[in-house]
Amino acid sequence: MKIALFGPPGAGKGTQSKLISEKFSIPSISMGDLLRAEVRKGTALGKEAKALMDEGQLVPDSVVIDMLRDRLQGSDCDGGFILDGFPRAISQANVLDEFVKLDAVINLSVDDRFLIQRITDRRMCPCGVAYHLVFNPPIRPGVCDDCGEKLYQRDDDTEETVLKRLKVYSEQTKPVLEFYRKRGVLRDIDGNKSIACIRHALIEILDSLPQ
Ligand code: AMP
Repeated sequence: MKIALFGPPGAGKGTQSKLISEKFSIPSISMGDLLRAEVRKGTALGKEAKALMDEGQLVPDSVVIDMLRDRLQGSDCDGGFILDGFPRAISQANVLDEFVKLDAVINLSVDDRFLIQRITDRRMCPCGVAYHLVFNPPIRPGVCDDCGEKLYQRDDDTEETVLKRLKVYSEQTKPVLEFYRKRGVLRDIDGNKSIACIRHALIEILDSLPQ
């Protein structure tokens, strides 16, 4: 099962891909998480990426494509994977298509008016789990339910940067939908619904894919 979750920032791709990863025992590969790991390590690549991420811009294709290729070599990807945040541009979809044929690309569509609150009230754990202060709060405020680490707010989750990220999404990422629609692998889910409803709809789609 090789799938990609698609949608604007705040659509719930990260939350859903982690839930689906547990259910189907396949890795969830978040390009944003891979980049943030480089930032934390303080590598040259991480420094270059952070400046662009803080501006809400895309990191160059040459960087993200190499990172993805490396990650997909992992033996845990042999039985499939879920991509979260890749591809984010037509150029990335073209290159990906040369080495991976996706079985499904699932588009979580969400009304713009919900996205800002979803993102600015989001809190992250360094372990990758995301919370929302209203819709998905941790049991103990400010602390991860899974690992007990202190939660933080991403530097690019401010209203100002979110507006830039939404613009990048509509100009550079949204056109990728047509790419997959033409290939007949695009499926749509109403991402305005609750986490549980979206998860249910996703599982229905994934269960219906040919094995
Ligand atoms: P995310 O965690 O998916 O919201 O991604 C955070 C940031 O990482 C984005 O705003 C981009 O700056 C960068 N990023 C993530 N995925 C990609 C990608 N496929 N191509 C380029 N930049 C990316």
